[in-house]
Amino acid sequence: MNETLLMIPGPTRVAPRVLKAMSENIVNHRSALFGKILTETTQMMSDVFRTSNKSYLITGSGTAAMEAAMANIIQPGDKILSVVGGKFGQRFMQIVDAFGGEPESIEVEWGEAVNPQEIKNYLDNNPDIKAVTVVHNETSTGVANPIKEIGKIMQDYDALYVVDTVSSLGGDEVDVDGYGIDICVTGSQKCLAAPPGMAAITLSDDAWEIVDQIEPQSYYLNLKKYRKSGNAEPPETPYTPSVSLMYAMHEALNVIMEEGLNQRVKRHQLAAKATRNAIKALNLELFPKEEVSSTTVTAINIPEGVTDAELRGTMRNKYHVELAGGQDHLKGNVFRIGHMGNITHRELITTISALEMTLRELGFEIEMGEGVASVADVYLPENL
Ligand SMILES: *Cc1c(COP(=O)(O)O)cnc(C)c1O
Repeated sequence: MNETLLMIPGPTRVAPRVLKAMSENIVNHRSALFGKILTETTQMMSDVFRTSNKSYLITGSGTAAMEAAMANIIQPGDKILSVVGGKFGQRFMQIVDAFGGEPESIEVEWGEAVNPQEIKNYLDNNPDIKAVTVVHNETSTGVANPIKEIGKIMQDYDALYVVDTVSSLGGDEVDVDGYGIDICVTGSQKCLAAPPGMAAITLSDDAWEIVDQIEPQSYYLNLKKYRKSGNAEPPETPYTPSVSLMYAMHEALNVIMEEGLNQRVKRHQLAAKATRNAIKALNLELFPKEEVSSTTVTAINIPEGVTDAELRGTMRNKYHVELAGGQDHLKGNVFRIGHMGNITHRELITTISALEMTLRELGFEIEMGEGVASVADVYLPENL
């Protein structure tokens, strides 16, 4: 078993009880027994989304749910507006294109969050936009977009509000019904702390109305079939799901319910604050501005005088802490610390301590312990 500490923005390490749940033997996926597990899992999924609508689980990674969202609302030529400030914003545009839609975009500089007013202006000038896609937590840049404020604006427009919460749900504030989100998608392997391979989606009545008007652009991801099977007695999925991953999701969601969603978000907020404070204490530079920085992943500029390979290589090979690099043009320029899922002060203290040793070894004048002290500070009872 590889005991490297995973401090990347997914996949994240899963609790032993989740691994254990996954080792249960396979049951018939069209049985009352499985129907009960599916019902409980989708119900908990809706609770985490904070929606009264049903959720659907798709065997596939987060991108499968992004595809499902687009494949079921797009007819050739439909205009879909995507907010693009990183890799995952781009992905939505590419999916729109793949399904014959007309991708349009609001380009946001990588490392910045979208100004909701820009979306309002765009919709005022382009009333034929069918849907707007927003990535809540842009994992590639470590930026959180203001999905609550955008939701307020979207209320005044017919366009569907589609939000990717793959790297935020279960780690940052998400309130699907409260924010007026029409389609929300997520994945198993980030803040939910289940193994990779499951995606989830939920749709509002307005979204279903559009879905019912069109022919889906995908066979496997036909959401009408997911709805029909989900409403059957016992509930099912249209095709054979990963039964083992369903056990894992069921248990991972149990863990979340036991911790409590608010408490879990608070834990992530503390981890983010501790990480940022430690980075500043070590005289490193945060990539995004602190006001827009993510609650689940911190992007940091690679300091001059060291390469990505040296920095992350030392962290990995010597201290057994795995960090993430940058993507696209940020490759070699930033590194990222994921603090999502089951991360506590324990993992952060180890990570920051290893980072101090790594930087010292690579020739930086680091005051040993300063980063660690900033982490500890955040968690001291008198500061909580
Ligand atoms: C990880 C991630 C996805 C989905 O990626 P998969 O590899 O398909 O699970 C989508 N959006 C965001 C913001 C992500 O972080």
